[in-house]
Amino acid sequence: MQSRSLSVFARTGILESMSETVLDLLVIGGGITGAGIALDAAARGLAVGLVEKQDFAAGTSSRSTKLIHGGLRYLKQGEVGLVREVGRERAILFRNAPHIVIPEKMLLPLVQGGTYGKLATSAGLWLYDRLAGVEKAERRIMLSKEETAKREPLLRTDILKGGGLYYEYRTDDARLTIEVIKTAAAHGAMCVNYAEAAELVNEGGKLAAVIVRDVLNGGAPYRIRAKKVVNATGPWADLLRRQDGSLTGKRLHLTKGVHLVVARERLPLRQSVYFDVADGRMVFAIPRDGTTYIGTTDTDYDGPLEQPAVTRGDVEYLLNAVNGMFPSVRLQPEHVESSWAGLRPLIHEDGKSPSELSRKDEIFVSPSGLITIAGGKLTGYRKMAERVVDLVFRQLGEEEGRSFVPCGTDRIVLSGGRLPKRPAEYAADLRERFSYAGEEAVRLVYRYGTGAESILQRGKEEIGNHGEMNIESVRQTLLMSELDYALREEMVCAPEDFVIRRTGDLYFRRRQLNGMLPVLVEGFARAFGWDEAHANTMRERLEAVCEAAVRFET
Ligand code: FAD
Repeated sequence: MQSRSLSVFARTGILESMSETVLDLLVIGGGITGAGIALDAAARGLAVGLVEKQDFAAGTSSRSTKLIHGGLRYLKQGEVGLVREVGRERAILFRNAPHIVIPEKMLLPLVQGGTYGKLATSAGLWLYDRLAGVEKAERRIMLSKEETAKREPLLRTDILKGGGLYYEYRTDDARLTIEVIKTAAAHGAMCVNYAEAAELVNEGGKLAAVIVRDVLNGGAPYRIRAKKVVNATGPWADLLRRQDGSLTGKRLHLTKGVHLVVARERLPLRQSVYFDVADGRMVFAIPRDGTTYIGTTDTDYDGPLEQPAVTRGDVEYLLNAVNGMFPSVRLQPEHVESSWAGLRPLIHEDGKSPSELSRKDEIFVSPSGLITIAGGKLTGYRKMAERVVDLVFRQLGEEEGRSFVPCGTDRIVLSGGRLPKRPAEYAADLRERFSYAGEEAVRLVYRYGTGAESILQRGKEEIGNHGEMNIESVRQTLLMSELDYALREEMVCAPEDFVIRRTGDLYFRRRQLNGMLPVLVEGFARAFGWDEAHANTMRERLEAVCEAAVRFET
C-alpha cells in the first residue's frame, strides 16, 4: 500500500498518475458516499481513484444537520432495519473518529398534540436504544413535566407534558468527509477535488474510461481508464445516469433542507432539543460553540444543484418553529448570522411527501456497467461503501477471477482519530504543552484530532522566531499554521473551501472570521503566488460567499 499525497500542490501529479494506469475502480463524487467507497476499496487492495468536481464535501455532505444519529423518526415509519444499522454504525464511528463524533444529549419535549405520546416515546426510545446497541449509561431517561422544564427553562410550559432524554452524536459532516478522504489517500487512493467527470467513454457497449476535466487549471482533459466506475454523485446521480443512457426506472427525488445559525445569546439553550412544530414535523435546535443552529425544512426541490438557496419562507418557517416552542426568545430574521441549504438525494416513491420518503440507499447497475449508489445517510456511509465494494469484488471475481477480500473498515481508525487518551484529556494536554494558544488548542483538537499537534507546533516555531506576540498576532499565526496544514494535508484550493468545509468558521465562528478574511486571502496569495488583481478577485468572491449566507431569496 503506497500512501498518496493530499497536498494541493500534488493535484496535477495525481491526475497524471491516474491517467497513466488502468484503475480497478474510479469513484465519481467526493461527498461522504464517494469518500467511504474510496477508503473501503483502497483498504481491500484495489487501485482506486476519486474525482470531485467541486471541493470535497461541497454537495450535501457539508449541508446536513451534522448528527451521527440513529434516526428516531424512522422508527415511527417502521424502518426498523435502518434504525438498527445506523445505530450500530454510530457506535463504530464514535470508536474510529472520537475527535469529531461527540456524544450529545438530546431533549425530546412531549407536548399536547405532539408527534409522540408519553408511552409511545418511552417505548420508542427504549427500542431505539436496544436496536442501536446503546450502552447502559447512555440509555434514555423519561422526565416529568417539572424535570423537563428545569432542564430547559426556555421551553413553553403551557402545553408541556414531560420529556425524554436520549443520546445522539454531533459531528462536522465536511470534516468527517475530509478525514475519510485523508484515510483513503493514506491507503493508496488517488483523490482529487475540482476535477469533473465530464464524459463517459463507452467501448463495445461497456464503460471503459472517463474524461476528467481539471476545473482549476484547464488544459487538456485526462482520460482515466477504470475497470469499474461508481457514480457517487448524490443529487447529481441522475445526470450521470442520463449521460450513461441508463436513466430508466427509479429516479431521484430531491428535497431541500435548510439550517439557520443564531448567536448563542439569542437562543441560549442548555442542550440540544428535538421539538414538535405546528405542521406535524420535528425540528432540531443544537448549541455549538458560540452559536445555536436550527433545522431543518423538508420541501421538494427542482432548482440548480450547486447552490440551493435559502428563501425567506424557509427562514420564517424555522423562526416560527423556534418562537412557538421557546416563546421568550422572539427570534427575528435579522438575528440569523449564517445559514446553509442542502439537497437530500432520495429515491422517488409515487404519492409520498418529502418527509415520508425512505432514507434507505439503493444501488443500480446499468447495462454499460456504471454502478450508481443513491439515497442513504451520512451516518450509514460505511455500510453503503461495503455494499458497493462487495459488488465490485463480485464482478471482478466473475470477470478476472479476483479473490474476494472482505470489508475491514470497521477497524480502521480515521485520520486524526488515533488519540492517546479521551479527546477532552488529550485537548487539556495540548493546551498545557502549547500554552501560547490557550483555548484555540482545544478547538483544534475537536477539528483535526492528532493533526492539531502539527498545527500548534508550527505556530510555536513561528512565534519563537518572532519573540513576544499579542493575542491578535498569535491568532493570525495560528490561522496561517492551520492554512498551511489545510494546503499540505487537505487539498484546500480556495478561501471558501477553508471557511466552509475545512473549518466551518462561516457557520459557527462568523464574528471571529470577519476580522480574519484579509489575512486569510493574503495567506492564500502567498501560497499560490497570486498577483494583487487575482487576490482582490478572490477576496471579493469570499465576501460574496459570506454575504450569501445571510441573504434570503423571496
Ligand atoms: P454529496 O455530498 O452531494 O456528494 C456528491 C458529490 O458528487 C458532490 O460533492 C458533487 O460535487 C460531486 N459530483 C457531482 N457530479 C460530478 C461529476 N460529474 N464529477 C465529479 N464530481 C461530481 N445524514 C445523517 O446521517 N445525519 C444528519 O444529521 C443528516 N442531516 C441531513 C440534513 C439535510 C438538510 C440533508 C439535505 C441531508 C441530511 N443527511 C443527514 C443526509 C446526508 O447528508 C446525505 O445522505 C449525504 O451527505 C449524501 O452524501 P453523498 O456523498 O451521497 O452526496
